[in-house]
Amino acid sequence: MENIIWVAGHKSPDTDTICSALACAYMLEQEGKAAVAVRAGELNKETQYALAKFGAAAPELKTEIPAGQPIMLVDHNESKQAIDGLKEADVVGLVDHHRLGDLETEKPIFMLIEPVGCTATILLALMRQRGIEIPPTIAGLMLSAIISDTLLFRSPTCTERDRQAVEELAAIAGVDYAEYGMEMLRAGADISDLQPADMVQTDKKEFAVSNGTISIAQLSVMDTAPVLAQKEALLRELEADRAAHSYEASFLMVTDILEEGTQLLFAGDAAKVAAAFAAEAADGEVYLPGVMSRKKQVAPPLLGAF
Ligand code: MN
Ligand code: MN
Repeated sequence: MENIIWVAGHKSPDTDTICSALACAYMLEQEGKAAVAVRAGELNKETQYALAKFGAAAPELKTEIPAGQPIMLVDHNESKQAIDGLKEADVVGLVDHHRLGDLETEKPIFMLIEPVGCTATILLALMRQRGIEIPPTIAGLMLSAIISDTLLFRSPTCTERDRQAVEELAAIAGVDYAEYGMEMLRAGADISDLQPADMVQTDKKEFAVSNGTISIAQLSVMDTAPVLAQKEALLRELEADRAAHSYEASFLMVTDILEEGTQLLFAGDAAKVAAAFAAEAADGEVYLPGVMSRKKQVAPPLLGAF
């Protein structure tokens, strides 16, 4: 068992983390290695929709990794976002599209980080390079990942390579990606059963700052009105979560996929938030028109300000 490589994405898994873990495990197996995709948290509705659409089973839930267990990381590289126990595990590889964080390894590893919209886009290039054939199910999962991360090409993180990858993968999977993509995003944007306490945990990521940690969650919806109607409760939950984890500040991006903008709710120092975005930040909120990407448009200014 010990030699089977775990392939894992980040906590609060999103569609890229799950689908790229599955695709990467498939790639390793095609190269004769024993690999299994695992997940460090519950599936969101969008990911469940994608897995069902292409008939794929979810990776097994693993909240902690045993010491010495070989692991390949996809879609993240910061220890705060990784499966518990990573420090004592044996990281053997990394494929990612985020800033380089605090990853340390004992041995040299295979590592590929590129500034594209999605991990699956990088995996597609790797599979092409290695002459690995991509079956329709894996192609469907990979295109789902790219559509999710780029919000169907709307995010400023989206590159020409991501667009081309989706076209190529759609031909293999046999889907109309524009139509399927909207269906998948709509499935993910269904917040009808979410309480404010759940909303502030959606897709939450932690980032190390000079005096501690900040958290940034993101809720992507087709209409922000039903979410913002609960603003007071959301701010209370953000403050409770901030206090519970001793975060410097807690953020919730309420992103409108169709209008292409983000209402950023927060608990923390309003002056620092205002400075980060050179905007007015009153009553725990700041509106950021055109902002859709945490990685490219929200995390960098906040990491600078905190
Ligand atoms: Mn991700
Ligand atoms: Mn990603």
